[in-house]
Formats: sequence, C-alpha cells, structure tokens
Amino acid sequence: MPRATKIVATVGPVSSDFDTLKRMVEAGVDVFRLNFSHGTAADHIARAELIRSVSRAVGREVAIMADLQGPKIRIGRFEAGRIELEKGATFTLDAALEGPGDISRVGLDYKELPRDVHPGDVLLLNDGLIVLTVERVEAERIVTSVRIGGELSNNKGINRQGGGLTAPALTAKDMEDIRTAMRFAADFVAVSFPKNASDMSMARQLANIAAAGNRHRPMMIAKIERAEAIPELAGILEASDGIMVARGDLAVEVGNAAVPALQKRMIKLAREANKLTITATQMMESMIVNAVPTRAEVSDVANAVLDGTDAVMLSAETATGRYPVEVVEAMAAICLEAEKSYEVEIDRDFLNRTFTRVDQSIANGALFTAWHLRAKAIASLTDSGSTALWMSRHNIDLPIYALTPNVATRRRLALFRNVQPFELAQGDNRDTVLHAAQDLLLERGVVARGDLIVLTIGEPMGEPGGTNTLKIVRVGQR
Ligand code: PGA
Ligand code: MN
Repeated sequence: MPRATKIVATVGPVSSDFDTLKRMVEAGVDVFRLNFSHGTAADHIARAELIRSVSRAVGREVAIMADLQGPKIRIGRFEAGRIELEKGATFTLDAALEGPGDISRVGLDYKELPRDVHPGDVLLLNDGLIVLTVERVEAERIVTSVRIGGELSNNKGINRQGGGLTAPALTAKDMEDIRTAMRFAADFVAVSFPKNASDMSMARQLANIAAAGNRHRPMMIAKIERAEAIPELAGILEASDGIMVARGDLAVEVGNAAVPALQKRMIKLAREANKLTITATQMMESMIVNAVPTRAEVSDVANAVLDGTDAVMLSAETATGRYPVEVVEAMAAICLEAEKSYEVEIDRDFLNRTFTRVDQSIANGALFTAWHLRAKAIASLTDSGSTALWMSRHNIDLPIYALTPNVATRRRLALFRNVQPFELAQGDNRDTVLHAAQDLLLERGVVARGDLIVLTIGEPMGEPGGTNTLKIVRVGQR
C-alpha cells in the first residue's frame, strides 16, 4: 500500500536549493508551501521554478501552495530588536508611534487596532507566549498590563482571546501576492484569516482574474485560524476547495485546549462536503533542532491521519530547521504506520446516501465494488480529478490511481489522500486507452498480471465530468 496521507512542506532558507528540495521530494514531500509572509515576489517565483525543475528531475509532479500573509496584526520593531517584558509592568501598543519601540511601548502595523479593543480584553502576542490585559485605550494608544512576560522581538503577531479583531480579510499585499502566485500557476492558494464564505469567494475571484491569461484555476484553501470562522465553517467549506486546520493562530484565539476537538470536527465536516484538509503547525516542532521527534509529536501526526486528514504540514521544521529531509522521512514513516490501523467502513459510509450526479455515483460505486471484490486497486481515468476526489473522501485499504494527461490535475491530486496520480495520454478509442492504463500500472509495478482492478472512465472520452462507466478487469487478460 503506498502512503495515503500527503506531506506539505514549507520552503525557507534551509530548503531553497535544488539538492535539498530534491532530497525532500524523494523523502516524500507532495506539496511545497511558499509562505508569502516572508520574501519578495522574485524569491517566490525563483523557488517555484526550482520546484518545477526538481519535480521533473524526480519524475513525480509535486504541487505548489501559495500561502498568503493575510491581515495578521503585528507590532512594530524595537530599538534593540527585542525587549524583556516583566510580569505586572505597563506596556503600551501605540498606533501613533512611527519609530522603533522600547521597554515601555511599541508601534502597530494596523492603525485601527485601538478602535477594536476594550478594557479587559486579553491580547496574545507571539503565538500566545506573551499575554497582555488591556487597561484603557487613550486615543491611538492601548495601555496594557503584562500578565505573562518574556522576550518580545520585532514584528510579532497579535491575537485577541476569543477572536473578533476586524482587519479586512484580503490586504493590498495579498492581492498583489495572488497575482504573483498566478504568474507561476500555483496549484493551491491558501487564504489566511478568512472570516466567512465571502472572503473566500473574493480571493477565488481575484485568483481567477489574475490567471485569466493562462486559464489556470487554482484550488482555494481556507486557513481556519480565527474564532469567527468556526460558526461559518459550512459556508466557508462550500466556497473553498479545502481547509487548513491552522492550529497556530487558532489555538491562540480559541484557547489551545479547544483545538483537538475542533480538528476532528473540521476534518469530518470537510470530508462530508467533499473538500480537502491540511493539518498544520507544530506537528514535528522539536525536529527544528533535534534529529528525532518527541513521543507526543509522533502521536499527534498519527492522530491527524486517523482523523482522516488529506495532508500533514511542516512549517519551520523544513523552512529553517536543522533536519529538513529527515523530518519528512520521519513524518512519512509515522503516516504509513498509522494508516495500517484506520477503520474501513465503506458500507456504513454509504448508508442513507443518495447521489444525484452520474459521475459521483460511478466513483462511489467503484469504491464499493473494489472493496467488496477485494480488488488490488482502483484506477480512475480522469480529467478534472473529481472522481478521485469523491473516492478519496472514504477510508479504504486499497490505492486509488488517478490517470490523466492533464499536468495541472496531476499536481493538485498530489494533495488528495490515498490518490496516486500518473500520466496517461488521452485517446479516443476506449479499448486502447484501457489497455494503456493497465500497461502503465504494470510498468509502475503497482499491479501484477492476474490482479483484479476496478476502472472508471467516461464515454465519449475526453469530456470533463463525463465519468459514466465502471469496468472490472483482470490485469493482462484482454
Ligand atoms: P501560519 O498559519 O503558519 O501562516 O501562521 C498556520 C497556523 O496559524 O497554524
Ligand atoms: Mn496562521
């Protein structure tokens, strides 16, 4: 069984050369994340080109996800780069301060913040490591007292406990970054801090307009990381192709104890809505400096797999850590092992389900048939990848091969749980294409002569959304 759970790795200073990227792909990376919170447009374009050439060298398509910075509210800089905040001290967030800050105050990049906060609000800085209580707001100044102190350095993020800071979802920088991402045809665009479905629709429209020239359509991923997004989840899912369980910011807003249950709920809802999921942040955090993960990290990754996530994500581990290749190897091994123990409940999954679409019925019928026949594999001849998407929303202990001539489809399929994309040329003779599909699977060594496989195909061939045929064959017997 090939690994079903996919790995998203963030590219950064330690992983921006051909050799390291190549070793990361060989170790199991399926999607590279370009983090637009750092670097210039030129940096991202250069990295995207490098990733495409690494992918060609390895002979496997990997996807690129452009992760927008979003309206994260940040403090300004300090005279000395950092300060040490003492518990009980008074500290002022000063929207009027233009120059660097000091031990008593610091500037803000979002000048409206003093209008959004009130006495008694709890502000969390640096992912919750520093906690401030708002005492009073004096015009442009938010006067706080330090509840939990510690080191505070330049440009750290600010969240409010309970959420509700109202910066608009897409900043001018995000809009510019979407245009940059469409220049290299990013396969996924991750939108940071969306509050509702319309934030996602807006981002999708901008991406589609920016990509108008090359007719590329990126998949849109909503990062669920604000408290307000939780009650809006159903709408956000509908307006997106997938979600990221963005545990870093989410934990700060809703309290970290609430995150594990939310993760399970989000993944379940997304799968039921035929959407993708990425579980992110601090998954293998200790491997930024250590060569092996902690027991807790191993369990966390395994549990995300059991929750049914499409992908697990690495952030600083691969962007700035010491072991960008080893961490991918370790994560891949944990996923493979965890996948041996998930429950397959195809019959129960389909209980009381009705399908209105022919292609969706064929996809689910293929899954049901393959499972009950104990087939070796499912092969879906697809153009858009939607049959593979429907099939991959269920746990099953046989692999789904998505065969397509479309390179953009192969790249996006890299993120889909339990889907292995291969290139197969299109043809207008059904029998010729079905034989070519079997030959390809034999050549790749994923099936043997005599194996039973279940194939899906659309007739007439080459029309997207046209899957209407299910065929069961013994490989090599024509
Ligand atoms: P970030 O998003 O790494 O861009 O902050 C993920 C998260 O908040 O968990
Ligand atoms: Mn975040």
